[in-house]
Amino acid sequence: MKKVLSIVLVLMMVFAAVACTSTPAPVANESKVDEPAKTEEPAKTEEPVKTEEPAKTEEPVKTEEPVKAEEPAKEIVILYTNDVHCGITEGIGYVGIARIKAALEAAGKEVILVDNGDSVQGDIIGTLSKGEAIVQLMNDIGYDVATIGNHEFDYGMEQFNKNVSLAKFQYVCCNFINSKGETVLKPYTIIEKAGKKIAFVGIDTPQTFVSSTPTYFQDGNGNWIYSFCEGNNGQDLYDKVQETVDAARAEGVDYVIALAHLGTDFSSTPWTSGEVINNTNGIDVLLDGHSHTKEPGATVKNKDGNDVLWTSTETKLAYLGMLTIDGEGKMSTMLLDTSALKFMNSVGLLKEDNGAAATVDAALKANEELVTTVVAKTNVDLVIKDPVEGVRIVRSQETNLGDLCADAYRAMGEADIAFVNGGGIRDVIPAGDVTFGQIIKVHPYGNALCVVEATGQEVLDALELSAASLPAEYGGFLQVSGLKLTIDLNVDSTVEKDEKNLFVQVAGDRRVKDVQVLQADGTYAPIDPEKTYTVACHDYLLKNAGDGYTMFQDNTLLRDAVMLDNQVLINYIVDVLGGTVGGEYVDPYGQGRITIIEKGN
Ligand SMILES: [Zn+2]
Repeated sequence: MKKVLSIVLVLMMVFAAVACTSTPAPVANESKVDEPAKTEEPAKTEEPVKTEEPAKTEEPVKTEEPVKAEEPAKEIVILYTNDVHCGITEGIGYVGIARIKAALEAAGKEVILVDNGDSVQGDIIGTLSKGEAIVQLMNDIGYDVATIGNHEFDYGMEQFNKNVSLAKFQYVCCNFINSKGETVLKPYTIIEKAGKKIAFVGIDTPQTFVSSTPTYFQDGNGNWIYSFCEGNNGQDLYDKVQETVDAARAEGVDYVIALAHLGTDFSSTPWTSGEVINNTNGIDVLLDGHSHTKEPGATVKNKDGNDVLWTSTETKLAYLGMLTIDGEGKMSTMLLDTSALKFMNSVGLLKEDNGAAATVDAALKANEELVTTVVAKTNVDLVIKDPVEGVRIVRSQETNLGDLCADAYRAMGEADIAFVNGGGIRDVIPAGDVTFGQIIKVHPYGNALCVVEATGQEVLDALELSAASLPAEYGGFLQVSGLKLTIDLNVDSTVEKDEKNLFVQVAGDRRVKDVQVLQADGTYAPIDPEKTYTVACHDYLLKNAGDGYTMFQDNTLLRDAVMLDNQVLINYIVDVLGGTVGGEYVDPYGQGRITIIEKGN
């Protein structure tokens, strides 16, 4: 009993920090616009920790009157996550979610747990199990419904289908359509709790085409066989969402909640969550994902000018979202972080986890075993240090491991040219068996493969920055694939950088000369500054200006974070090289792609 009292208290206090409330319009109530001011105080929700004033424990009198028969409806609590990206032990953690869920249930709440996509990719446990370990964990933690994100497709369509079939929860997505015009997954599902029917409508961003691997959605001839309702400048998506919401409403549901992997990024236009809300009606709450936004709760006007609650939980379980529908149908949202867990623990609420900790431990252990599994073999020592002098050279000259890593990016990105920064190649691979763990040590950062369009001039500028610090080593020194070049150290670098060390321009003479691009027939041709090439590298360098590489920032992204770097390398060795790194990589100083003319020569 004490437990129940405490949890009610926690919730009461927690509700005091609610960001935003909105009365839903189950059917005819259009007058809910009268309390829009609340949106302006979203700061509050960041401190659900307010729970620290546990002095209040003395006034739990209210809870003593649980003449439950009188209460018409129990509170419904919908816990939500998005963009977990395999961060199962980060932030609030899957165990934390299981405990909060159990505690709420023990307190008599009707609880539903939902996810808004991008759960299965982002760390090794996802890579090694192709997402299966995460889906199994979501089963065990007790997820009820999930929508898909672009990264649910990262292991290919066959594996996508397998993962969907493994799920004991319901995947929903209204705008993922096959060649027959049918939705591949259920567009929505209805869950009944506390006498209320709640529809969960799934929506995944049509950006999935670019931010995943496009060929997954094509037949062998490059024809699109799937659609995400991407047409007509957003209208096709709005129409599909509207049609789905209307269908759910026609079933007499009390609430419609959109599980949306849409996000707020400008690059997601015209399919941002805001645009979908603005162009539809009938959605009460939109739980968002994709842009890793932290939003405890705001309101956005729908097509009819009514407020729709909108919220999102950042990424990697930094927060657990909590949407509460009280007995009168009033809705409120807030984000819980680890301090909420700490507080609940401090008052003895978090004993139960329904076996979640053991399940997560078992998954991590299984992952550990996979890490030590032999996945490939190399006949040669792949180096980052000079084999004679023992000093690190991967940040100042070509090495065979640098070639291999860059070749992997070029092959997996199907690009003309690939770069890998020397600072991102962290460990050697000695001749012999190769375990996945060794591959991870080479690329431990979890950067992800991206491909951009770039002009020859941008490539030349990048190479000039790469060479700017020589002969000193530089983490941004580029190992290359699909290119040959000469760096003349008799020419002083004229690269200008800003105060943040970001590339600005090449002001004068260039030290990088004779740059040639590999052609389809295996020959090399001089780079054309005007021509557009495809360049593969990772998000750190191409999107985030890592190591100061600003020249690719505004370029067209052909592939956006489609595969983790360690998976790029292992896939290349296994799928392209047939499982063995062979004689073509035997020279520790590489294949002669980067020639350096020392000063005075
Ligand atoms: Zn996403």
